[in-house]
Amino acid sequence: MSPKPKPGVLDIAPYVGGRACVAGVAAPVKLSSNESALGPSPLALAAYAQAAKGVGIYPEGSAQILREAIGATYGLDASRIVCGNGSDELLHLLALAYLRPGDEVMFTKHAFLVYRIATLASSAVPVEVPEKNLRADVDAMLARVTEKTRLVYLANPNNPTGSYLPHDEVRRLHAGLKPETLLVIDAAYAEYVRCNDYEPGIEMVASFPNVVMTRTFSKVYALAGLRIGWAYCPAAVADVLNRVRGPFNVSVPSQCAGAAALKDRGHVERSVAHNEHWRAWLTDAIRAAGLRADDSVGNFVLIHFPQTKGRTAADADRFLCEHGLILRPVGNYDLPDCLRLTVGDEDANRKVAAVLGEFMARP
Ligand SMILES: *Cc1c(COP(=O)(O)O)cnc(C)c1O
Repeated sequence: MSPKPKPGVLDIAPYVGGRACVAGVAAPVKLSSNESALGPSPLALAAYAQAAKGVGIYPEGSAQILREAIGATYGLDASRIVCGNGSDELLHLLALAYLRPGDEVMFTKHAFLVYRIATLASSAVPVEVPEKNLRADVDAMLARVTEKTRLVYLANPNNPTGSYLPHDEVRRLHAGLKPETLLVIDAAYAEYVRCNDYEPGIEMVASFPNVVMTRTFSKVYALAGLRIGWAYCPAAVADVLNRVRGPFNVSVPSQCAGAAALKDRGHVERSVAHNEHWRAWLTDAIRAAGLRADDSVGNFVLIHFPQTKGRTAADADRFLCEHGLILRPVGNYDLPDCLRLTVGDEDANRKVAAVLGEFMARP
């Protein structure tokens, strides 16, 4: 006899992150994990270096300096912000605190994989709802709500599809959930979205006791390596998360770098502007090469490949890797014919466009 994990745990397929290297290629361009092309703010790096001097001392456990900086930046009550070791940790903590074995957790067909992992780790039951044109389908979601629906994860915008739900659709989804069901809006890419009908979740959290919004420093703030995320919560949910989280779950340098990054609004503006320009440019270039690219509001584009021999996503992945370009295969998102491309710097973007053109023009 050996120790057995809880039901569900062995059904988890371990998360596989984006590759960073290719055999035989000296310095490949990593466009596989939606990191920011412009990198972090110099202010964040300076704060990180400064904080290195204090690492002999435990962090202030509630991440107060970071919560206050987030509160000031986004106009939020800092007491209702809970920080985490990446937003991944917060997505897991919500499952840990709210799910009982057998509870149902709803998310959409091509949603971020962490939702399934967190659900299964809590012995809860994943309810995967089909999407419509690679976008969350609120009618289909509402049709699958049952007495057992305890939690709904909604990535808005979603990764890897790049689609989003307008505010009125999110409200309609919420209106069909019972007050005991928690709606978790994962707005990891919110800063990139420039659409009048989009709301990241702040208004929803302000209005309802069963809505939580999660955010991250990994994307537009380009601090993925530091692992910093945050949740904006109803007071009662913040209280729950503060009971179950690790007492020092965000390191001192992370807190300091995150707080400094928030102050550099110019850097955020430049990063968003770079993304707007190059996302559109890449989308056009991919289509000009004869491939389907979905409209995206994030810092990445989903590319569809034909099933023709020599032109498949797997063929393209190999060809791109040979040319030093690493994209993200998304077969584990049930999108076996697609690759996800992160918007890179100008050189990388031009190279991807040229190599994809070459790939499609091959005999
Ligand atoms: C990248 C990403 C996150 C962020 O994860 P962190 O743990 O904060 O790095 C969360 N949700 C989605 C949908 C993402 O793509």
